[in-house]
Amino acid sequence: MKPIVIIGTGLAGYTLAKEFRKLDAERPLVLLTCDDGRNYSKPMLSTGYAKGKDADGLAMGSVEQMREQVKADIRTGVRVNAIDRTAKTLMLDGDTLEYGELVLALGADVFRPDLGGDGVARVLSVNDLDDYAKFRAAAMGKKKIIIIGGGLIGCEFANDLSTGGYQVDVVEPVGRVLPSLLPERASEAVANGLSALGVTFHFGHSVKGVWEKGDGVEVELSNGERIAGDLVLSAIGLRPRTSLAADAGLEVGRGIKVNRFLTTSDANVHALGDCAEVDGKVLLYVLPLMAAARALAKTLAGDATAVQYPAMPVQIKTPACPVVVSPVAPGTPGAWEVEAEGNDVKALFRSPAGELLGFALTGAPAGSGAVKMELTKQLPPILG
Ligand SMILES: Cc1cc2nc3c(=O)[nH]c(=O)nc-3n(C[C@H](O)[C@H](O)[C@H](O)COP(=O)(O)OP(=O)(O)OC[C@H]3O[C@@H](n4cnc5c(N)ncnc54)[C@H](O)[C@@H]3O)c2cc1C
Repeated sequence: MKPIVIIGTGLAGYTLAKEFRKLDAERPLVLLTCDDGRNYSKPMLSTGYAKGKDADGLAMGSVEQMREQVKADIRTGVRVNAIDRTAKTLMLDGDTLEYGELVLALGADVFRPDLGGDGVARVLSVNDLDDYAKFRAAAMGKKKIIIIGGGLIGCEFANDLSTGGYQVDVVEPVGRVLPSLLPERASEAVANGLSALGVTFHFGHSVKGVWEKGDGVEVELSNGERIAGDLVLSAIGLRPRTSLAADAGLEVGRGIKVNRFLTTSDANVHALGDCAEVDGKVLLYVLPLMAAARALAKTLAGDATAVQYPAMPVQIKTPACPVVVSPVAPGTPGAWEVEAEGNDVKALFRSPAGELLGFALTGAPAGSGAVKMELTKQLPPILG
């Protein structure tokens, strides 16, 4: 029997392999990755400094251990360049591989800001273990790091690097942190918490260029202001990797389009994780990919199963002001109701009919499992 081939050994690829092996111990499974195949939890990349962990310290399992655990042929350092859907064959560098069923677990790429200046090579981003190792090496012995972007990843790194002993500046063109996730009062609480830790914010202007300045850099903002630092970390968002699928003629929107069975426009090709757009939803988080992996494992084992997404609040790892948020899609009719005292905020987003559609908790309410659970129970499912 031709193998199931999974492209990607991130959380999506490995979780699917583990779930599949619980149901089918026999069918040949091949995993391909262009990285080194170590098993790691990507959310840990933005908490490593406070824990004093290098890249090896964050890795949870070697590729040898993973081969043993999921009983699969795992090939590392292999890039898939094209998919021939008629021949059901993958084009690798100088090689081809046949598949019976194909799963795309390709992840997402970081957005690269379009910057001027001669210091662009000093702008790094962290989206996998290898990036993390490179960033740590570049930051060794340095003092001041400028982060571009005050979203989830930018705020988490600001907290982590600040705790790890760095002076941190954050540039965020929108006038507040986490603008797409939180109402204003909750953003204010998070900024207050991070400021108390020593983080400096530059709101309202974007980064125009990065210039070399001796051993360090100068970041130029759109208002002409210049900020001096040693290193720049870009954290302005992620974009699902879709080009491999698009080039193969698969339907692509914001992500690789799949139905509730995680199947693309080709019945033998499936997708999950950061690269996938599941029934119109692109959710770049761990809980949705776990739900997708469980459902797809059953489908691949012969029991066609539609994925369900319950409400899945996201915990933002900013211990200076903890956050739990169940975001509301932009343009959703309704309004926030906010109770706040200092950095403790409980904000509920209700529809005009009074239905709870989302919430944002910061400070003490975010640390209360009971509050989070009670609110989550009241939310409608994301995909019921
Ligand atoms: C710093 C950071 C913090 C985060 N914190 C949280 C959090 O607290 N909570 C949360 O829910 N989510 C968080 N996330 C998001 C979460 O980590 C991701 O949703 C998840 O890890 C995505 O897993 P994935 O397997 O889809 O993608 P990836 O882990 O990116 O894996 C993609 C895989 O595809 C392979 N690949 C891609 N293209 C090819 C090709 N052409 N050929 C061969 N191999 C290929 C890559 O080598 C890799 O193995 C965070 C993300 C980041 C960056």
